[in-house]
Amino acid sequence: MSQTTATFRPFSENLDLLAQVAVKVGLGLQAGQALVMTASLDAVPLARRITEHAYRAGATLVTTLYTDDETTLARYRFAPNESFDLAAKWLYDGMAEAFKGGAARLAITGADPALLANQDADKVGRANRAVSKAYRPALELITRHAINWTIVASATPAWAAAMFPAEAPEAALAKLWDAIFSTTRIDVADPVAAWRDHDRGLQQRAARMNEKRYDWLQYKGPGTDFRLGLADGHLWLGGGTTAGNGNYCIPNMPTEEIFTTPHKNRAEGVVTATKPLSHQGTMIEGIQVHFHEGRIVEARASRGQEVLQKLIDTDDGARRLGEVALVPHSSPIASGGLTFLNTLFDENAASHIALGQAYSSCLLEGDKLSAQELAARGANDSLIHVDWMIGSAELDIDGITASGVSEPVMRKGEWV
Ligand code: ZN
Ligand code: ZN
Repeated sequence: MSQTTATFRPFSENLDLLAQVAVKVGLGLQAGQALVMTASLDAVPLARRITEHAYRAGATLVTTLYTDDETTLARYRFAPNESFDLAAKWLYDGMAEAFKGGAARLAITGADPALLANQDADKVGRANRAVSKAYRPALELITRHAINWTIVASATPAWAAAMFPAEAPEAALAKLWDAIFSTTRIDVADPVAAWRDHDRGLQQRAARMNEKRYDWLQYKGPGTDFRLGLADGHLWLGGGTTAGNGNYCIPNMPTEEIFTTPHKNRAEGVVTATKPLSHQGTMIEGIQVHFHEGRIVEARASRGQEVLQKLIDTDDGARRLGEVALVPHSSPIASGGLTFLNTLFDENAASHIALGQAYSSCLLEGDKLSAQELAARGANDSLIHVDWMIGSAELDIDGITASGVSEPVMRKGEWV
């Protein structure tokens, strides 16, 4: 089939197509909308292509906020200690104001997965916390899907080097771009049609889980024996959503997951991560966590233990789950066999759970519920939302109905 067979195009054409698909399919940008974009300086070529396509789609104003790895490191080297409790609140407030005024949001990801690996974990933790707090009003509009938003990736030299350490810099970068183009369904004859088909498939899979209405999911695999309750009136989502502003968007490119809101007080047992987690420039590997009554009572990591500890100490909600997602092991990202060290890709290669903030859009009528009503349904509340991968070719998942009947959902990592 033409849609699934890789089509050869020069790099510049693929880059342009990625930008076009991000604007049209991912973001669903409408004429008359403003756009707020974030990108690193290494992603300028993609940011420029996106800017052009956004204006051609009728964007009124595209504003891009650039970050730079060297500048970030300079702060850790030279800034006074009190710097790490600060964040540019005025900037995040401005983003929230733009979203309330109708702007769409696009993030280009592609940071160095280990940028802050050698920095003081305490400073990293404090800086992350300060940003989470300042960003919260804007992030809330995103997690509620009040606006159309999406995340796409650009290859960057540091990311490519982390993924392909044995390759020369240019070869590594080319390999990473190829992986991005194929997993993001850009290297096919008609990417827009391929995305529409894929979106339909994810919607159908979510609909099937919504018919089942399981109360609990039971996970069994190497190092994992875990039972997770789903929130009352939970709703499985996958693929695109119609945002509160009426615009249809697909929030992650790539996306292979269907996901919902677990109950914050119902998680029991041990879970072991199946992939390393790159979190804000630090690596956490070999995560093993023990849950009791929804709360982490013990957390270990073979690398980055201190970062993990800081993360779950952010607030009480950081020790509880806000998302559960199912991804078959045969997803194109998993079958490529690469670990991307980037959550956008790795979370779409394996079933995962996320510590922290829940998506209220994953509850029936969730956008109409107050904070108290959301909590009563079991939706978690936190400054953080961190996905980590627990799926593998050896993971079995059962669904347990309200009447206690157990049904196979996944066997050896695949849908039953
Ligand atoms: Zn997810
Ligand atoms: Zn997530």
